[in-house]
Amino acid sequence: MKINPKDSLDLLVNAINLDFSELHNISNNDIRTRVKEIELQINDSKDPKGELALYLPEVYAIVKEVSRRFTEGDIIVPATLLDYKLAKETDYVIIEGDKARYKNKWHVEGQDFLWNMIHYDEQLLGGIYLHHGYATEMATGEGKTLVATLPCVLNGLTHNGVYVMTVNNYLSKRDYQITRPLYSFLGLTTACIEINKDNRDFIREAYKADIVFGTCSSFTFDYLYDHLTLSADECVNQRHNYAIIDEIDSILIDESVTPHIVGGGSIHDVGDLYKQYLPIVRELIDNTVRYESDIHTKAVSYTRDGIEWLKDKTGISSLYDIERTYEVDGFDSLRTEEKDEIKNNIKLQNALNLILAALTVYQKDVDYLVDNDTIKIIDPNTGRVKENNRWQHGLHTAIEVKENVKIKNDSDSIAVISLKSYFKLYNRICGMSGTIMSVQDELFEIYGLNCKSIPTHKPCIRKDLPLRVYKTEQDKDEEVIKYILQNRSEGRPSLVCSSSVRKSEELGDKLSEKGLVHNTLNAKTIKGEANIIAKAGEGNTITIATCVAGRGTDIKPSKDALECGGLVVIGSDYFESIRVENQLRGRTSRQGDPGTSVFFTSLEDSILNYLSDDDKMTLQGLVDNISDNNYSTEDITTFFVRAQQEREKFLKEKRKRCAQKDDIIAPHRKRYYDERNVILFSNDELVRDIDRIIDNPEIERNINIHIEELHIKAKKLTSRSRRNNLNQQRVVIPFSYNQYLFTLHLGINKVEDFNYFYTEFRKAIYLQTYDSVWKEFVTYAMSDLDTKEIGDLDNKFTSMKHSVNTELVNRMLNSIIPYNQTDSKPDAVEGEKRDTIFRTEKYILKNDQFCPCGSGKKYCECHGSNIRNNIRRR
Ligand code: ADP
Ligand code: MG
Repeated sequence: MKINPKDSLDLLVNAINLDFSELHNISNNDIRTRVKEIELQINDSKDPKGELALYLPEVYAIVKEVSRRFTEGDIIVPATLLDYKLAKETDYVIIEGDKARYKNKWHVEGQDFLWNMIHYDEQLLGGIYLHHGYATEMATGEGKTLVATLPCVLNGLTHNGVYVMTVNNYLSKRDYQITRPLYSFLGLTTACIEINKDNRDFIREAYKADIVFGTCSSFTFDYLYDHLTLSADECVNQRHNYAIIDEIDSILIDESVTPHIVGGGSIHDVGDLYKQYLPIVRELIDNTVRYESDIHTKAVSYTRDGIEWLKDKTGISSLYDIERTYEVDGFDSLRTEEKDEIKNNIKLQNALNLILAALTVYQKDVDYLVDNDTIKIIDPNTGRVKENNRWQHGLHTAIEVKENVKIKNDSDSIAVISLKSYFKLYNRICGMSGTIMSVQDELFEIYGLNCKSIPTHKPCIRKDLPLRVYKTEQDKDEEVIKYILQNRSEGRPSLVCSSSVRKSEELGDKLSEKGLVHNTLNAKTIKGEANIIAKAGEGNTITIATCVAGRGTDIKPSKDALECGGLVVIGSDYFESIRVENQLRGRTSRQGDPGTSVFFTSLEDSILNYLSDDDKMTLQGLVDNISDNNYSTEDITTFFVRAQQEREKFLKEKRKRCAQKDDIIAPHRKRYYDERNVILFSNDELVRDIDRIIDNPEIERNINIHIEELHIKAKKLTSRSRRNNLNQQRVVIPFSYNQYLFTLHLGINKVEDFNYFYTEFRKAIYLQTYDSVWKEFVTYAMSDLDTKEIGDLDNKFTSMKHSVNTELVNRMLNSIIPYNQTDSKPDAVEGEKRDTIFRTEKYILKNDQFCPCGSGKKYCECHGSNIRNNIRRR
C-alpha cells in the first residue's frame, strides 16, 4: 500500500498497522523479497526522497512484522551470502543445510538478550518524525532504541549510509548489538565504529555499512582526521547522508560548548615554567585576599593584593601591567628586547592564571581523575572520562604539574570543528531524547531542527517526591543513608546518584562503614558498567552512581522489586542541570512500571552561588526564621530551582559564543577542505595546478632533476624495507622539510615507475604545504578569537594562500630523503627531536610496523609513542 505522505501523521500510523496486519501470512523469504523490490524501486527512482516517504508505511510495517516474528522464536529462511558471512562472525545466525536460522536470543555486551519487542503505535509515530528530520522527544524508557530501527531500515535501503550516533560507547555498542539481527535479516549491513576504534582499516570498512553506529565524538573526529591524511585511501570517507542522534540534547546542547579539536601543530614545552611557579602560587592561595575564584564558572583572577604579592615574590615589577600585545600602541615597532619582555610576561601571566585555576577550581575526582600517571577529564554532563582529551591552552599541563604526573606535550590545534558546522554537512539529521522540549528554541536557532513531543505508551506512574533540603551536607548524607536503608528493608533497589566521583565514593564509604553492600558505578568503575546495570534492578540492590547512570541506561527491575514498589532513584545532590536531573529520574518507572524518585540537598550546596546577592539575602532571611529544622519548604526550594536556571543561562551564553566563534572559521574551513580534497582525490588536476604555479622552465627543470634523485633514494629505501618485511603493502618514506612523511604503495613495480613517484611526491608536498598554512591559520584563529573581526581572518586567509606558492616551490626543491647508505639510520632524522615527527603518522603507520626513522624499533615504541595522547583536545 502506498500512502500520500502529506496525510496526517496519525493516519500514517494506521496505514502502517494495516500493512502490518496484511503481512502475517507471508513467508519469511517473501518478506525479504519484498524488501529487495522496494529497495530497487527507491534506488531506481528519480526522486528517492519522495519514494522513501511513499514507502515509509510499508517498510515500517515490515520492520514491525519482523520484530513480531522474533518475539515468537527463531526465524528460518533460505540462506543468502550475507547469512553465511554472519554465521561465521556472529552468535545470532546459524546455517542449517541451505537455511539460515536467525535466533531470537543473543548476547548484548556479554549479557543474555531475548528479543521481546513489537513497535507500539507511539513508537511508530516517533519513527515517522525521525524520518522527517525532527528532534523527537520521547520520555525516558519509552524504547527509543527500538524506534530508531524504523528510520534506520527505511533509509538503510538507499545504501547511502545511516549513522546512528549517541553519547557514549557503552550505549553505542549496546544498541548496535540489540538491533543488528533485525537489520541483518532484512539484508542490511551494519557496523559499530566503537568496537575497534583505533584500527583505521576496521573503521574504513565500518563506514561502508548501510547502518553505522558510534559516538558523536568519534564521527566528528573521523571527519577531521580525514582532512589530515596524506593519501586518499587513508580516508574513511563519511557520507553525511542521514544521522540519527540519540540523546540529542546531550550532544547538540551540552557537548557543543567545546569544539572538537585535533592537536599536533607546534609543540609547547611549558612544563618547567609551571613547575617553577607552582610553589609560589601554592603559597599565595594561603591567603584568600590575594585571589578570587568561582568553582562553577571556573573563573579565577588575582586581586590587586595578589598581584603586588606576586611582583614582590618574582621580582618582576611589570607583571600584569600588560595583558595583550595589542594593548600596546605600536607594539610591532618596539625593539626586540622590549617585545620579548612583554611576550615573556604575558606567557608567565598565562601560566600563573592557569596554575591558580588548577589549584583552586579544578578538583581531583570531580573535574578529573588521576589514572595511570595521566590526568583524565571527567565530562560534567555525562560523568564519563573523555579519553584522549586535553584541556586547552596549557591548563592540562598546569594540572599535570599540580598532581605531579607525567607531563605530556601540548601543541597547537591543527583541525577544529564545532558540532554546528559538522552537522551542517549532512543532508538530514534528526534525533531523540527524553529531555528536548526545554531546549527546543536553541535546537531550532542553532541547528534548524523542529521539535516534537510524542505521547507515552502507558501513563508514567512514577512518584516524584519533593526536594528534601537539610541544613548541612552531613545532615543530608545521614538522611540519604536512612532513606536507602528504608528502601532496602522494603525490598526495593536504590540507585543513588551523586554529583561527582568524590561524593559517590564518600557516600559509598559511609555505607561500607555500616556494613551495607553496594555496587559503584562512576567514571572509575566504568569497565564493569554492563554488569552493574544488569544487577541494579534486582531485589534490594544498592547502586551508588554518578550521572554516568543518567542517560540511556536501561535498568530492568526484577519481578520482586516491582512488587515492592520498583526502583528508587535517589539524587544525593542537587544537580546543576534540570535535564540531567530528569534523565536520572527517568531510570525508574520505565514502560509504565512503578517507581519513585527523590532528590536531597543542603544549604551548603555550592549551586546556591549562582543566586544574585539579593536572592542570597532573602534566602538567608527565610532560613533564619526556621525553628523546626524543616528546610524543605516550598519557599526555600524555589531558590534551588532558580540557581539551576541561572546555571543554565550561563551555559547557554557559553554555547552561543562557541557557535559564533566557529561561524567565523567555518567558511574558510570549507574552502580549504574542498580544495584539499581535490588534491587528495584527483591526480591530473593536481599536476596541472602545480605546473601553473611554477610556470618557470628553469625552476621546473631543477625540480625535476631533484625529484629524480629523490626517486633513486626512495627506491633503495623501499627495497631495504621490503627485505625486512616481505609482506609489506606500503612503505613510509621520511623526507625532511620539517620532517614529513610520505607513503609509497608497493603495487607491482610502482616504486620503479618514475611517473608514479613524481605525481605522488608532488601531491604529498602540495598537501603538506597546504596543511602547514592551514595549521597556522587555525592557530591564529583559535587564539583570542573573541577579539578578532571576521575581516581579520579573511585577510589572514588570503595572505596565507599567497604564501602557499612560494612555499610549495621551496619545498619541492629542498626536500631530502634522510637516507644514508653507509649508515643504518637515516641521518637527518636521527638528529631531530623525537617529538617533532608528530602529526598524521597514526593513520599512515600501524603500530606494529617499523618506525620510518630506521631505528629498527616498532613504530609505537619510537616516533609513534606519544601521538595518541596528544591528538584530541577540548
Ligand atoms: P529509552 O531509550 O527510550 O530510554 P530504551 O530503548 O532503553 O528506552 O527501552 C527501555 C526498555 O523498554 C527496554 O528494556 C526495552 O526492552 C523496553 N521496550 C522498548 N520498547 C518495547 C516494546 N515495544 N515492547 C516491549 N518492551 C519494550
Ligand atoms: Mg535510549
